[in-house]
Amino acid sequence: MNYNPQKIDPAPEQSSVRGKKKMTYNPQQIEKKWQRKWERIGIFRAPDKSKKPKFYCLDMFPYPSAEGLHVGHLRGYTFSDVISKKKMMEEYNVLHPMGFDAFGLPAENFAIKTGIHPAISTKKAIKNIKGQLISAGFGYDWQREINSSQPGYYKWTQWMFLQLYKAGLSYKKEAPVNFCPSCKTVLAREQVIDGKCERCDSLVEKKYLKQWFFKITDYAERLLNDLDYNPPATRIDWPEKIKTMQRNWIGRSEGTEIKFSIFNSQFPINVFTTRVDTLFGCTYVVIAPEHPIISNLKPQISNLEEVEKYVEEAKKKTEIERLAGDREKTGVEIKGITAINPVNDREVPIYVADYVLMEYGTGAIMAVPAHDQRDFIFAKKRELEMIEVIKPKTGNSPFPERAVDESKDSSPPFANARVFEEDGVLINSGIFNGLSSAEAREEITKYLGKRNFGKKTVYYKLRDWLISRQRYWGTPIPIIFCSKCGEVPVPEKDLPVVLPKIKDFKPTGKGESPLAKVEKFVKIKCPKCGKSARRETDTLDTFVCSSWYFLRYTDPKNKKEPFNKSRVKKWLPVDLYIGGAEHAVMHLLYARFFTKFFFDQKLIDIEEDKSSSLPSLERSAFDEPFLKLFNQGIVYRKGAKMSKSKGNVVTPNYIFEKFGADTMRLYELFMGPAEQATEWSDKGVIGCHRFLNRVWNLRQKTVSKKQRTENRELEKLIHKTIKKVTEDIENFRFNTAISALMILTNELEKENQLSVISYQLLLKLLAPMAPHISEELWSRLQSNRGSSIKSGQNLGHKKSIFLEKWPEYDPKLVKEEIVTLIIQVNGKVRDKIEVEVDIPEEEAKKLAFSREKVQKWIEGKEIKKIIFVPGKLINIVI
Ligand SMILES: [Zn+2]
Ligand SMILES: [Zn+2]
Repeated sequence: MNYNPQKIDPAPEQSSVRGKKKMTYNPQQIEKKWQRKWERIGIFRAPDKSKKPKFYCLDMFPYPSAEGLHVGHLRGYTFSDVISKKKMMEEYNVLHPMGFDAFGLPAENFAIKTGIHPAISTKKAIKNIKGQLISAGFGYDWQREINSSQPGYYKWTQWMFLQLYKAGLSYKKEAPVNFCPSCKTVLAREQVIDGKCERCDSLVEKKYLKQWFFKITDYAERLLNDLDYNPPATRIDWPEKIKTMQRNWIGRSEGTEIKFSIFNSQFPINVFTTRVDTLFGCTYVVIAPEHPIISNLKPQISNLEEVEKYVEEAKKKTEIERLAGDREKTGVEIKGITAINPVNDREVPIYVADYVLMEYGTGAIMAVPAHDQRDFIFAKKRELEMIEVIKPKTGNSPFPERAVDESKDSSPPFANARVFEEDGVLINSGIFNGLSSAEAREEITKYLGKRNFGKKTVYYKLRDWLISRQRYWGTPIPIIFCSKCGEVPVPEKDLPVVLPKIKDFKPTGKGESPLAKVEKFVKIKCPKCGKSARRETDTLDTFVCSSWYFLRYTDPKNKKEPFNKSRVKKWLPVDLYIGGAEHAVMHLLYARFFTKFFFDQKLIDIEEDKSSSLPSLERSAFDEPFLKLFNQGIVYRKGAKMSKSKGNVVTPNYIFEKFGADTMRLYELFMGPAEQATEWSDKGVIGCHRFLNRVWNLRQKTVSKKQRTENRELEKLIHKTIKKVTEDIENFRFNTAISALMILTNELEKENQLSVISYQLLLKLLAPMAPHISEELWSRLQSNRGSSIKSGQNLGHKKSIFLEKWPEYDPKLVKEEIVTLIIQVNGKVRDKIEVEVDIPEEEAKKLAFSREKVQKWIEGKEIKKIIFVPGKLINIVI
């Protein structure tokens, strides 16, 4: 149900009550004041020493873009801030830090466009964004602020690189890479969306370059398995959607690697298949244009010119073009060589085709045209042999030859034919005839294994993570090349390798970083032999910086180590992580990989650090960084995601000035379910502003009394509201929490006099969502009280409302009254059920229809109408 604040909100302005001078709600007067005071007293700072239980609430840190943040960006931050503030009132020691992901393409591309050095533009952008975050009233612990482009931070990013290097998990090799011609840099596979650069939408090209990789594939199994709870791994509570995206990205498949020998040659072709049960039906083999066989067997290939021409053309194509599903599959037979099917020694032709990629699997496939649609179309066009080897367990086999005959007139004649791709029973498969597909996969794999022609294999789609960038604005890779010693890691004592300040930071586009032109930077003595050597000039992908930043927040000023183990042990894992779902397979996978690596390296060991002065804590080990993950819904305006190019951006500054930060916060929370995309509405903003005005004006009615004298109904509503707001915030139902507060405010307004205690409860519930107004009203309760309040009564609030305890409800008061609901069919009583007195109509209907005694009477009948008398009866008319 959508709540409409305008409907709930009858009269925004009220006349002053009992002749008191009315102070109007003026957010501009109060918000800055409180923001300064909160920072001055450090109320939102997280002490490392505290007896309270910890709660680590983390936002994905932003890129400091010159445009600053828009209201869409602030939505997730508002959620985390509300939860942090409520947790604080629930007496947790809350760590809620913020920093800036300051290296990388967005900052650098902006710098190139404007000619302003990224160090300067980034600094300016950070100042602007920080100002916006403070103006929103977010309670960050700014003493822990980090900036990934500062040497004090990237020194440790380099250190992380060296740890991975030492562990054999970082290496350089020549590889076909995704190259963005516009950004003039390589991209990770994850940064290519539908064949385009995720930053600038340019079509990505393939290039062969020497690049650095992290061997994330070594962790594929764990990264996959630990998405489910597998003790002793850490249990994670993530949206199923994100877990599925990671599973698909890692892409595990179990199958068989089969060796096809080549007639008269020592070089085999290895293929990977999940359907080894169809091996007898393999009538040709297809290899990728990049497959080494082609250069290895040149002398034997009789149509070398034709093959090489095809290979050259394939290299020019992008991966997206090569894999496009609707495109006709091209390919050329490699004449002069044949492969031998190891299961029956048949010679089969070898094709080269660009739809097979070298980076996936083994770069070669076995083709079974009778049981694979893609192979079928390829084979049919070239009139290649097809052998049916699987028939359905029951019924006729839809063998393609027959299917084709029936659709002679369609064009192309075989396009509509579907081959049998499912599991079944083996035929035409020698000694394996009669086995089921599943049995045959086992048996044939065993058979191949005995003859050294195959083995059971697990394949992952996940590739190693490409981490080097030929760009200026990033962390320099701490490696030195010496002609005598080869690759030499920079000694840890020499870190950081400082990024030099240079004027010409534009990318060269020649597969080389602008740093390569900086002699002073490049020339270095080899740390091993002292001879002159060269530095690596590539920089690290910015996703490396963000793979460990959540650990640095625990110890942001440490100069001796990236973080102190005891502090990490105290704060990690992150209890709640809020950010965009677009990071499902990049940042979130990389951060998990790093954490598992640190765990293995005992960098986040749970062993007590004896040198630490921190109290020892009994915490379990963790190898997952983020316990709970929440993805906020995107904010749309005029039907599109907010972006400068679409001209539909709303800046928070505008809302701050016109309505105040509290209104903006309230609207961000109220606009719709937190996880769903929602359209921005200016009217909705006004509605939230009116609601705050009403809360403000309600103060005029407060009187102090020894005890509450509210009527029982109001008393009950207050307690129900406490329960609802508490649970709703816990479950990210901010919009319904605010609705409950609006309903309560409505009822409170009806009273002539309002107990100050009730009003305080309202303020406490509102405080995490609208902190400034709540804090202001809280502080004013004494000084502006009515004359009936005697001085000395404990109502003056010198201390912040955030030091108050979160209200608790009385379970007796929230219990619903139970009544008997009569269920009639055509006016005759057929059943009775016990329900809560205010059961909604929909729920009552559902309940009534589920009753056996009722079903008997209405089964198969048309329901004409349903009469519902709340709390009394439901009559089904048939
Ligand atoms: Zn680009
Ligand atoms: Zn050397």
